[in-house]
Amino acid sequence: MKLEIDFQKGNGLVPVIVQDKDSLQVLMQGYMNEEAYEQTVAERKVTFFSRTKNRLWTKGETSGNYLLVKEIKTDCDKDCLLITVQAIGATCHTGSTSCFGKINDKGFVYTLEQIISERIDNNVESSYTNQLYKRGINKVAQKVGEEAVEVVIEAKDDNDELFKNEAADLLYHYLILLKAKGFVLSDIESVLKERHEE
Ligand code: AMP
Ligand code: ZN
Ligand code: ZN
Ligand code: ZN
Repeated sequence: MKLEIDFQKGNGLVPVIVQDKDSLQVLMQGYMNEEAYEQTVAERKVTFFSRTKNRLWTKGETSGNYLLVKEIKTDCDKDCLLITVQAIGATCHTGSTSCFGKINDKGFVYTLEQIISERIDNNVESSYTNQLYKRGINKVAQKVGEEAVEVVIEAKDDNDELFKNEAADLLYHYLILLKAKGFVLSDIESVLKERHEE
């Protein structure tokens, strides 16, 4: 389905907000003309019209850090686009995930999930995450079990700091287990959402 977009108002350009599909972080903002939009739809990779370069610019064309399109929406009066994406690597040329810096603390668990994934995918030898992962699913699952027991033990105490630390350990190891099982946090979130809608 082709969207109806008002390119006239901005003299041929519409502002485009790019949002991470999982963390919901705003990653960057750019502009599209009709050709950039058409190319984005056809190739499922975000292509802007760069006002600096004065040409079509596929984000990631030199860095490989593409923005893979999940969904494109217009706003109420069709003069602006919101694109949800799966970002490959860092979106900002400074190396940070978002051009707006760390703006969504609620999304840190997703950022952590991404870091865990990168450590494993790049087989970072010095990383505890990667070392644990390489010991296999059973070992990772066992760690989750141990951390869960520690949470239970600390829940019975009234030391808030110890409880929070064990709860953090559990969440961290749980993320590694999801990775080892080939899932992402949003898969689990979907299950919870479906239950909620029943
Ligand atoms: P890339 O599209 O990632 O291959 O980067 C190509 C060039 O585009 C970089 O050298 C920067 O000049 C510019 N650039 C990349 N990412 C951004 C961004 N998020 N915002 C503005 N300019 C960028
Ligand atoms: Zn508008
Ligand atoms: Zn940037
Ligand atoms: Zn622990």
